[in-house]
Amino acid sequence: MRKEYLLTPGPTPLPPQISLAMAKPIIHHRTPQFQAILKEVSSGLKWVFQTANDVFIISSSGTGAMEAAVINLLSAGDIALVVQGGKFGERWTEIAKAYGINTEIIDVEWGKAVSPQEIGKRLKANPQIKAVFVTLCETSTGVDNDIQAIAAVVKETPAVLVVDAISGLGAVDIKTDAWGVDVVVAGSQKGLMLPPGLGFISVGPKAWKLVEASKGGRYYLDLRKAKKAADKNDTPFTSSITLIDALNEALKIMQKDGLEYIFKRHKIMADATRAASGALGLELFAPTAASDAVSAVKVPAGLDGEKLVKTMRDTYGVTIAGGQAELKGKIFRIAHMGYIAESDIITGLACLEKVLTQMGYKFTLGAGVSAAEEIFLKKENN
Ligand SMILES: *Cc1c(COP(=O)(O)O)cnc(C)c1O
Repeated sequence: MRKEYLLTPGPTPLPPQISLAMAKPIIHHRTPQFQAILKEVSSGLKWVFQTANDVFIISSSGTGAMEAAVINLLSAGDIALVVQGGKFGERWTEIAKAYGINTEIIDVEWGKAVSPQEIGKRLKANPQIKAVFVTLCETSTGVDNDIQAIAAVVKETPAVLVVDAISGLGAVDIKTDAWGVDVVVAGSQKGLMLPPGLGFISVGPKAWKLVEASKGGRYYLDLRKAKKAADKNDTPFTSSITLIDALNEALKIMQKDGLEYIFKRHKIMADATRAASGALGLELFAPTAASDAVSAVKVPAGLDGEKLVKTMRDTYGVTIAGGQAELKGKIFRIAHMGYIAESDIITGLACLEKVLTQMGYKFTLGAGVSAAEEIFLKKENN
């Protein structure tokens, strides 16, 4: 017998209510029944995106919503400024290039956050830049960028700010309207506690002008079609009925908890994971801008990081993530986003300690779990 634990930065575990919601018989999407669900979901999405703007639902993974952002705002020959501090920052560049959009790149050392002043400098140097693409939580490095400060800089320019919050939304704070973020992109399988398959994009008025002006070709991802349908509480194509119904459940669970509580819960899980890493003598990959959604930890020298992740998963049923691209084998990532509780973190850390010991790494067995428990206890006392 084996029990599986999923501690990866997408997909994330599903609450049982959500799995059950998806077991219901399918209904048709052009019906009052589905429209009622869609109506609740639209207002729930605005709540979780912290915006009064439309939040469109796309049947795709998160990258589909990223592509929708690029092709609806820009067309070939336009100039975009992209912050590249990891694999997902690079994805913005790759999508832009695929559509003939020129990119100016801010290369940020992996494991560091971008300097908002640098973005300001680049925008000042080139007033032709139409859009700035950044990542809230750079999942590949475990870094959170300071979106509030970045938005304050971009707001003063003609450019629009587009944020990939695919792993950040529902885990770390992003005040779309209060901070003045023009476009926010998210996905279903991270903080929102759903299976993969839905992409989301919120578009503010400054960005909508670009959507209308863009001359690029688009069809399935045309946000003008999405807007026309949304105005009638509808979707342009066959909706992902089952996932949207499940999303309604997820949003209800989240609304019951409240955003403030949700962000605090993520921070405690992150604090516990970080404290445990330190107690085990392990270094965080991003000590100065560590995300509350996912922790990236350096693999100790001389240890095979890929083997560590593989053993935890295949021998003990605890799935964490390894490093991507240039970080392959060099870091491991423990996600604490979405439906993750203290018990999951403790289980993940205990398994990590066991496998580290088996691999010959020296530390006091239990030190990581104990450090995490201290954080959880302190929370109980506050
Ligand atoms: C997971 C993730 C993506 C990619 O999403 P897909 O659903 O795999 O397309 C993009 N950006 C970030 C920051 C992510 O964490």
